[in-house]
Amino acid sequence: MKAAVLETYNQFVWKEVETPKVKPGEVLIRIKFASICGSDMHIFPGDFHPRTPIPFIPGHEFGGIVKEVGEGVSGYARGDKVAIDPIIWCNECPACKRKHYPACISLKLLGIDLDGGFAQYISVPHQMLFKAKADLPDEYVALVEIYGIGFHANRRAETKEGDVLAIWGAGRVGQVILQAARTITSETIFIIDPLDNRLEIAEKNYENVIAINPNKENPVEKINQLTNGKGVDIAFEAVGHADEIKGVHTPIRSCINSIRGGGKVCVLGLSDEPAPIVFKEMIWKEAQIVSSRVSDGEFDEVIKNLELGKLKPDALISKIMHGSQTQEAFQLIQNEKEKYLKVLLDLS
Ligand SMILES: [Zn+2]
Ligand SMILES: [Zn+2]
Repeated sequence: MKAAVLETYNQFVWKEVETPKVKPGEVLIRIKFASICGSDMHIFPGDFHPRTPIPFIPGHEFGGIVKEVGEGVSGYARGDKVAIDPIIWCNECPACKRKHYPACISLKLLGIDLDGGFAQYISVPHQMLFKAKADLPDEYVALVEIYGIGFHANRRAETKEGDVLAIWGAGRVGQVILQAARTITSETIFIIDPLDNRLEIAEKNYENVIAINPNKENPVEKINQLTNGKGVDIAFEAVGHADEIKGVHTPIRSCINSIRGGGKVCVLGLSDEPAPIVFKEMIWKEAQIVSSRVSDGEFDEVIKNLELGKLKPDALISKIMHGSQTQEAFQLIQNEKEKYLKVLLDLS
């Protein structure tokens, strides 16, 4: 088979490697499309070293068709369309014992801790597979994992019909939180980002979305004004590393300032930088902060919503390139990060 192998940091080579052999309990998948994630962009230059050694095959967002079913596996047949949940938890740590898998102390992912999906084939334990209908486009199946993050965040925040939301960050994660939230609440959703092209994608694809560019107007003031001083029920922080904007508080503090009394903030943005908050502002509201990491089996829910046409995957796909162009794809995203949401690799 062919695979995009990260031979040295910053250098992918599309080359012939050995096709994996299917072991008992496993299923061999012919991968159709893989999607490039923000964390892949960190693996590329070696930011995750030594967690991702080289040579290495990244890719944790992908889907394909069952090619061969291993010994002892039932419920799958050659030709089935499947999404692959890349998460491997230990099942032994205190979090796993409570079935709180995203908090597993030794959580591993295909494509980060083990070779992943930037390849034509992969053999994985059957428990990692989620079936989709044959007519669901292969491109969409590669997006199930990232949608899982959006659905999981809404589950952590306990979003319900009638909730008014604010989402800080209209990048990949912000967009999937928005799309997942739209399957739950029809009320107003504010989305905040300094990039107009990302705000436009959110506004164009959904009704009742109000985009706010913090370089042009103060998001907290605007939300207060448009909710008659009430604030939103839930604010999501999906920014991570935030640029400083004059006269505007950090995204996390802005989230706290934009929720109603008793409201909730859900944090997903990953950053190594401290983000100062004023606890008095939280205490006055008796507000809650919850956090959300990866997904926790929301794959079936995502696939069902994709099949019902309730999500807008085309709004996320910026570009599709062939696997042999993996190096170009990464350079493109590296050079013009703002321009792309999801770039897919076609592994045919
Ligand atoms: Zn990812
Ligand atoms: Zn564990």
